[in-house]
Amino acid sequence: MAGRVQIFVSHSSRDPNRKLFSEAFAVTHVKAEVVEFENIITLPWWKTIKEKVAASVATFVLLSKPLEELKHTQDWIDFEVGLSCAEDKQVWVFEPQGQEIRFLVPYCTYYCIYDPTEPYDAEVKRLKWYIDMYAGETSSKTLWTAPSVTCPRDDCLLEFRVMSNVDTFRCPSCRKPLLWNRQTGQTDPV
Ligand SMILES: [Zn+2]
Repeated sequence: MAGRVQIFVSHSSRDPNRKLFSEAFAVTHVKAEVVEFENIITLPWWKTIKEKVAASVATFVLLSKPLEELKHTQDWIDFEVGLSCAEDKQVWVFEPQGQEIRFLVPYCTYYCIYDPTEPYDAEVKRLKWYIDMYAGETSSKTLWTAPSVTCPRDDCLLEFRVMSNVDTFRCPSCRKPLLWNRQTGQTDPV
């Protein structure tokens, strides 16, 4: 296992779109570090998670509807995002299209809306492309050239890159809607 690139996946085990992500990882050489608390054998939990986050090149946070009701999972995702931030890891927030998920991620460097409807071959391909950039199997230029957005809300101002072709979405941190002009970079509150 030594030397294999891994990405930490922070999610709810009840996420209905897990399959899409596992299919995408399966066609790469990158390991998805998915922690199921029931299966942690080295206690305490926090230590295992801290080590796994530190050993990963990035953290993928998968938002899903069930997450809204799962307080316990929310607390662990908060912890994992906090660790990732402290470790200067890139944090990706993935949100299924058309679902307004009531969960905020205070720190995020990439925000990606995806289409979870089957067949999702195109989305698997797109995810594979992102993951391959971390494996060095394709140029990582996009990671540094994807358009950057700063949330226009004075009480937020989160800066992150947007990996979807959208002109309106909700900031992953304050969860307020914004309008984005991809050409000029201008953002406005809705
Ligand atoms: Zn915001």
